[in-house]
Amino acid sequence: MTENTPKRILLAAPRGYCAGVDRAVEAVEKALEHYGAPVYVRKEIVHNKYVVESLTERGAIFVEETDEVPEGARVIFSAHGVSPAVHAQAAARNLDTIDATCPLVTKVHKEAVRFAKDDFDILLIGHEGHEEVEGTAGEAPEHITLVNGPEAVDDIEVRDPERVVWLSQTTLSVDETMETVRLLREKFPQLADPPSDDICYATQNRQVAVKKIAPQADVVIVVGSANSSNSVRLVEVALESGAGASYRVDQASELQQAWFDGATSVGLTSGASVPEILVRDVITQLGEWGFGDVEEVRTATEDLMFSLPRELRADLKAAGQSTKRPKQLDLRPV
Ligand code: SF4
Repeated sequence: MTENTPKRILLAAPRGYCAGVDRAVEAVEKALEHYGAPVYVRKEIVHNKYVVESLTERGAIFVEETDEVPEGARVIFSAHGVSPAVHAQAAARNLDTIDATCPLVTKVHKEAVRFAKDDFDILLIGHEGHEEVEGTAGEAPEHITLVNGPEAVDDIEVRDPERVVWLSQTTLSVDETMETVRLLREKFPQLADPPSDDICYATQNRQVAVKKIAPQADVVIVVGSANSSNSVRLVEVALESGAGASYRVDQASELQQAWFDGATSVGLTSGASVPEILVRDVITQLGEWGFGDVEEVRTATEDLMFSLPRELRADLKAAGQSTKRPKQLDLRPV
């Protein structure tokens, strides 16, 4: 490679904000505008450090549990969802709740309730301790067993192998989940499938896009926070798909120039909770290191848009304010 070898960035699309994150973040922003600060939020509204810090500066107060919220105050539940027990705790404290659970997470909750009612054992594939998994499992704790990846399958027991179904967290690796399902089905041949995909469209689309750029990339950079499941999965998928190396960064200042020694192609993507400005900053930094050409590689377009949480819409409408949302900006100019 000479000094003049052109160096490029392959920019994955879709990347960044999904419909559930976009809605949840806007719910906090609108709540701050409409009710005024402070607005309490249980857990990080979405798993992104920059978003949480920006909303904190504007008056949001992030708490771990509802008992940290003053009696009678307003609290927003995060995009990852909460169990019925959390709703009950909030009601017991007289809290005004706004539920920003992503509708695609709610869909999995409803599946869990339905299969539990039909007395199935539910094998929930997901990461132990993740908020979404805690929320879903809390819908039917007596019926749900967590399956923490393929290596956990051996130890799984059910009451009746003829009445067992699998569900999953929305932000897993599609390939790893299918491997877990394969192993579960070997063990329980009557295993039923969920009525539709639990791994959401955004998670799947971001993985397909990174699979496309990874084989051509010496290094793949994933912008996203360490606690963002779908961002961490993108690093794994990039490596499995042929990237020379892959690193996750919260922001451009975490990039290390040495990662790009000898590289001519850098793949770039971001998790579903990452605002585009953080990707722009990475492009600027890479540009300063000689990666001047930016080529977007698009594998899908997304136009899904969710309306604001019901409770917030009602209050905005009652105050004569618009609840209309701008069209989601998936087709951003490069
Ligand atoms: Fe909803 Fe999927 Fe986004 Fe999670 S990643 S908030 S499930 S759209």
